Amino acid sequence: MAARILLIEDEPAIADFLVRGLREEGFTVEHAADGTDGDHQLRTESWDVVLLDWWLPGTDGLTLLHRFRTAGHEIPVLFLTARDSVTDRVRGLDAGADDYLCKPFAFEELLARVRSLARRRDGRTTAQLSHGNVAVNLTSHRAERAGERLDLTAKEYALLVFFLRHPGELLTRTRIYEHVWDERYDGVSNTLEVHIVELRRKLQAHGPRLIQTVRGRGYLFDVETR
Ligand code: CA
Repeated sequence: MAARILLIEDEPAIADFLVRGLREEGFTVEHAADGTDGDHQLRTESWDVVLLDWWLPGTDGLTLLHRFRTAGHEIPVLFLTARDSVTDRVRGLDAGADDYLCKPFAFEELLARVRSLARRRDGRTTAQLSHGNVAVNLTSHRAERAGERLDLTAKEYALLVFFLRHPGELLTRTRIYEHVWDERYDGVSNTLEVHIVELRRKLQAHGPRLIQTVRGRGYLFDVETR
């Protein structure tokens, strides 16, 4: 699943662990270490899921969440906190949290909740994306074409998911970088091209070309009509 996750957490050990773990699962993750940076990233970029710590330097999580919801944003938010009283849970949910996880938690549980929130965000009931004879299972990460399994790296998988979400649509390099990589396109890097070449090669082992180059602009995922 190529969801973009914003993690707002001030404890370096927890943040490092979560960022690494979630990236290994193919998510795009950005980290904000305090409330001020978190607030800025919440307002200036688009996210699929937000993981929000309660106690933060700068602005605390509860205030951030309240502010964010008041501004009308509906992105799923999972509250992470050491506080485990009913009152605190209710305060978190009342402020607009979609779910709640008490520290310490198992990574597997966090992952399950993140997936569930990302699916809810997609408004999808099945965890499957497909176009033509290409399909991806968002839960198992299994990708296939014409029933043949595709052996993809995490980035190739994220790229394919992004293409499958936007079939027949011109996707600019800037847009792809923003959603699949954790960085902005610098205008010169050929990282994307390298990954496209590999993904194309793997897809074309089982059928005609699907990733079309739109010269000077970006890429389009569809069967060639000309
Ligand atoms: Ca904290």
